[in-house]
Amino acid sequence: MKTTKCKWPKCMSEARRGMAGWCSFHYRKRHAMGLTKMTDCAPVKAHIVKLRELGWTYDQIAENCPCNGETVRMMLTQDYKKVHPPIGHAILSLPLVARDSTRQTDDLTVMWRQLDAMAFMGWPQHVVCKMAGITPTRIKDARDRGTTSFSTIYAIDEVFRKVAYRQGPSERTRTLARGRGCVSVMAWNDIYDLNEPKPKLEKPPAAKKRISRIPWDDVQHLRSLGLDDEEIAKKIGVRPSTLRDSRRHKEV
Ligand SMILES: [Zn+2]
Repeated sequence: MKTTKCKWPKCMSEARRGMAGWCSFHYRKRHAMGLTKMTDCAPVKAHIVKLRELGWTYDQIAENCPCNGETVRMMLTQDYKKVHPPIGHAILSLPLVARDSTRQTDDLTVMWRQLDAMAFMGWPQHVVCKMAGITPTRIKDARDRGTTSFSTIYAIDEVFRKVAYRQGPSERTRTLARGRGCVSVMAWNDIYDLNEPKPKLEKPPAAKKRISRIPWDDVQHLRSLGLDDEEIAKKIGVRPSTLRDSRRHKEV
């Protein structure tokens, strides 16, 4: 492979593929200085969606691209408006042909996690489907067949990114989800990371034991000495009403 030197005067580094004749250091430097032209991300996103529909994984898309699969995924999920030209061109040059991959099962794994996390927050599946503009049958089919189209995955993902951190409308869904052992998106480090094991369901914290402000042993002792409530309260340093209320709570 022919290598060329970086265009920066006196720079001895090799020019990196896809970086317009600059080494990666100088490409980044020029980018920081605002000298690189950024490309509109929208057509790149559209191309990624098409490739995904054809079975490409994010890593497969990134194979010949000066970025990794994670970056490709972020382009879809982080609402990027602009992209580095070398990355954009590399992705746009990928042919729209079907590829064998684990994309289907990988995406479904993430989608089930997302639906569970949304249920945890009280978003019923039919509401999620409505917001995603798909029929609930699609989800049922996905469950039955173990496959689904990328457009379904993407539609659910878009809703997920909007609502996953917000409380949903259904208390019942929330309760059922907790009963099923669903976890919220907050429980995951990265809900998209297929290697991450499912977080353990956090048990709701046990109700805190009431810590009494009243030293009941002392109260009993003082009472045995024949003091009335007013005097006891004075002795232990609380208001008589506090003593009275606390006694009602303690039911003595
Ligand atoms: Zn350089």
